[in-house]
Amino acid sequence: MADIIDGRAIARQLDEKTKAQVEELVATGHPAPGLTVILVGEDPASEVYVRRKIKACERVGIRSSEHRLPADTSQEDLLDLIASLNADPEVHGILCQVPLPDHIDTRLVLRSISPDKDVDGFHPVNVGRLSTGTGGIVPCTPLGVMMLINTVIPDLTGKDAVVIGKSNIVGKPVANLLLDAEATVTVTHIYTHGLPAICRKADVIVAAAGAPELVKGDWVKEGAVIIDVGITRQETEDGKTKLVGDVAFDECQHAKAITPVPGGVGPMTIACLLANTVQAARRSMVGNGDTGSDYADVPSRTMFTGSASKPN
Ligand code: NAD
Repeated sequence: MADIIDGRAIARQLDEKTKAQVEELVATGHPAPGLTVILVGEDPASEVYVRRKIKACERVGIRSSEHRLPADTSQEDLLDLIASLNADPEVHGILCQVPLPDHIDTRLVLRSISPDKDVDGFHPVNVGRLSTGTGGIVPCTPLGVMMLINTVIPDLTGKDAVVIGKSNIVGKPVANLLLDAEATVTVTHIYTHGLPAICRKADVIVAAAGAPELVKGDWVKEGAVIIDVGITRQETEDGKTKLVGDVAFDECQHAKAITPVPGGVGPMTIACLLANTVQAARRSMVGNGDTGSDYADVPSRTMFTGSASKPN
């Protein structure tokens, strides 16, 4: 039987560390880190996500605030709000919940958030820092993926890793992080030929395609580690819904370890958002520079160690 990588338990441990960091900042005379969430319109799913994020902030002592704007808010007003939050020293993290209404240019809005407060890690400056291994804020889900891998394989040097999916929010940043940890990385996508054979060689498979049970048991070599990022909501026969991952979980029990869906990557995402907010606050308050040393649980050669003599 494969070991189950318990994302809920690992996320709780990360929250404890984040809480301790908040307490340390406050004990040394700094304000508690502050996260501001902007919600435009009344998308029901976004409402749920925002509520969860605010509640999570309370758990670890992060001050949170919400800006709820009507769906007809102009792009100019939204950009003005972000500019004022960028300039506010009490705000360390800014999160603009997507999707935004159609009349708003989402890319422009996300790029208007200061890279130092971009706790989602989506700003091109942070993407650039990630791909050059020079610190910055790492997107939450990919960071969570690396932390989960770290619990099973602390040293990825020379390991064969396959990433299924090449999105900007999951696949590409995960691939960059794996490369930074000295794994040999194959990034695959919907047009990749021979995906089963590629996966069969992998020591680590990160599945982020959004294709339910795409990865079959005979795609997985004995002893591989599988991280299932995929989440698809499916209707069951009794009219209820269940969440299904990208991996045929029951067929993959010859793996060394595997994440379940739900209870694997999902819980790590919010825990990493909190960690990113504290990271951003520490940098602004105590000048943690680009060392990114808060990401101690991520296998890495250069990203989080600030190594000056990094190999390419
Ligand atoms: P996306 O749709 O932006 O990208 C999907 C990628 O997978 C694309 O590169 C596509 O080419 C590839 N792909 C799709 N079908 C494939 C197939 N049959 N074979 C090979 N490649 C295939 O999706 P995304 O935003 O990266 O999200 C991927 C999945 O991860 C979704 O299920 C999403 O819900 C989930 N997700 C989970 C979390 C979390 O917190 N757990 C966070 C983000 C995304």
